[in-house]
Amino acid sequence: MTTTARPGAGRNASPYLYGQEAAAVARVLEAGQYGHTEVTEEFERRIAAFLGVPDAVAVMSCTAALHTALLAADVGPGHEVIVPSMTFCATVQAILAVGATPRFVDVDPGTLCVTDQHVMDAVTENTAAVVPVLFGGRAVDLSRVRKELTGSHIAIVEDAAHAFGSRYGARRVGATGDLTCFSFGPIKNLTCGQGGMVIPRTREEADTVRRIRLLGVVQSQAERAETTSYRVAGLGLRYQLSGINAAIGLAQLDRFDQTERTRRTLWRAYRRALGPLDAVTLIDVDPDRSVPHLCQVRVPHRDDVFAQLRAQGIGVGVHYPPNHLQPAFSTWRRALSATEQVAGEILTLPFHLHLTERDIDQVVTALEQVLKSAGAA
Ligand SMILES: *Cc1c(COP(=O)(O)O)cnc(C)c1O
Repeated sequence: MTTTARPGAGRNASPYLYGQEAAAVARVLEAGQYGHTEVTEEFERRIAAFLGVPDAVAVMSCTAALHTALLAADVGPGHEVIVPSMTFCATVQAILAVGATPRFVDVDPGTLCVTDQHVMDAVTENTAAVVPVLFGGRAVDLSRVRKELTGSHIAIVEDAAHAFGSRYGARRVGATGDLTCFSFGPIKNLTCGQGGMVIPRTREEADTVRRIRLLGVVQSQAERAETTSYRVAGLGLRYQLSGINAAIGLAQLDRFDQTERTRRTLWRAYRRALGPLDAVTLIDVDPDRSVPHLCQVRVPHRDDVFAQLRAQGIGVGVHYPPNHLQPAFSTWRRALSATEQVAGEILTLPFHLHLTERDIDQVVTALEQVLKSAGAA
């Protein structure tokens, strides 16, 4: 093994392992529990208990979670799905995967999240679902949308890839009654290596997602071992979460209180350090409610600032280039003024659990100097 330096300000994001993950994986390998096994089921029970929900269904990624959740909500060809353009392309790909079309909407430039108004203005007779994105870990308040859509056939499927652990009031994201999808990819608040989770609204939806993730086969592993056949009940995909990945997630969940604390502490350190920089607008998040996932700012001369910080070895990034401007999604392009405006201003600063407060000071000092030389501060 080679030793690598601690990922610091040079990295925009980085997985963080507490140390016990490797032993957990070794135990699963020794026990031969590689595939969808009781380890996966234990992970589902532990996540459900953590969120305070009756059930959780593990899949191999959040993209798979969004895909299966939309299928479970009966979204398909001829349907429109309301989605902010300002999201990772995975959200849009999941909509296309069910044969529906994205109806791109704008976001509030202060939060990069949709508001009730953005959603309600975009509802048409073809709308089958709304996919709000809890950008940066913000628990978006969609109570008006929820109220107005109650009794309609329009499903709310939350893309909570950034928001594992965040809260709406006393409840965790995932426990609000909407279909919710989490990512446990390498750099998310909790990682399985790769992984995802669907929080279903009903028992029936849970059964549907469980069936789809295992190729549409309805029997359990135990039943399969005892019979000469199995039954394929409908469309299915190879989307299950392996026991190897689930073991990493279980080990991470044991330390999640520490993850939450550290993310909040680092967020507050950024907030303090950025406070005096007049040219910089922090896209704020309430660290008492949310588990911050990204540290994003809006700056003038963004492309120049980005290039100069990169040249200094500071791991800045941009989340995200808007989807409605992607060539692959141009069929569904429409004018989205706030998104187009912020797209040229947003800059994601390094934010991960290997950072120290000194790294944060280094990033902010570099940002301040670069802005000065760009004539903006
Ligand atoms: C990471 C991410 C996804 C996809 O998650 P995977 O687990 O990588 O499939 C979806 N939406 C958003 C907003 C994300 O950041």
